[in-house]
Amino acid sequence: MNPIEISFEFFPPKTPDGVEKLRATRAQLALLKPKFVSVTFGAGGSTQQGTLDTVLDMAKDGIEAAPHLSCIGSSKESLRAILERYRSNGIRHIVALRGDLPSGMGEVGELRYASELVAFIRAEYGDWFHIEVAAYPEYHPQARSPKHDLENFARKVKAGANAAITQYFYNADAYFRFVDDARKLGVDVPIVPGIMPITNYSQLMRFSEMCGAEVPRWVAKRLESFGDDREAIRAFGLDVVTQLCERLVKEGAPGLHFYTLNAATATKAICERLA
Ligand code: FAD
Repeated sequence: MNPIEISFEFFPPKTPDGVEKLRATRAQLALLKPKFVSVTFGAGGSTQQGTLDTVLDMAKDGIEAAPHLSCIGSSKESLRAILERYRSNGIRHIVALRGDLPSGMGEVGELRYASELVAFIRAEYGDWFHIEVAAYPEYHPQARSPKHDLENFARKVKAGANAAITQYFYNADAYFRFVDDARKLGVDVPIVPGIMPITNYSQLMRFSEMCGAEVPRWVAKRLESFGDDREAIRAFGLDVVTQLCERLVKEGAPGLHFYTLNAATATKAICERLA
């Protein structure tokens, strides 16, 4: 049994092989007794059915699974239809996001920000859903300023969110500072760090560039120096991320949410070291 509250994020598989791989992954990770798992959603609804199918597949096995839902590019009517399906399937936990418009899709939709989606869900469904929102300790890449981003974060919590999950980061100070600043704005919900295990240098740099997460120079340099030596990358990544998690938990993080990328090995190794 893991003493730290953990949760896992998956994405909806697109192929039958992917479905099987995810079943195997989640069977391994279920042994770590996660509090819940979450399943991502493609903005614009590209994975709508996949998200629902994946969540229902997990619920069958008794795993509490929270679908992500993004509002960008959507009408209230289409969001209501999705929320209705979740409710009628007994799903009570959701991750509410703005999302990003896929390139080529121009329409913003009826709800422009996650705070509006949270307010919409609360207005339409009362307390049926436990709502998580996203937080950015290193700030959202489109934010006008850190202060503005923090205020926007506080706004979406005040709209009715129960908890937050952060974008991944490798700088614990950024997280603790963010939590302190959010508390000063009256945010009193748990802010759970999002953890990205390190297994692949080029993929990590690409993701981080896209989402505005900083890979510290010393970590990037060491990873780069390993070249194609995947074992060395994994071993170093395991050390770095485990130490990050240890510090986060020791200094008060309320739990850890792992971005698994539908693979069990790296997440499992970190959790086992933490246990
Ligand atoms: P918001 O909270 O709406 O913020 C977006 C930007 O708008 C920020 O810069 C904010 O400062 C600004 N802003 C907010 N309110 C206002 C306002 N009133 N006026 C002016 N500016 C404002 N993406 C997906 O497509 N699918 C997923 O499943 C998914 N899951 C995620 C899970 C987590 C835990 C995280 C951290 C991110 C996830 N994302 C996902 C990515 C997310 O959709 C993007 O980061 C997106 O750009 C922002 O979404 P948000 O909900 O944080 O937006």
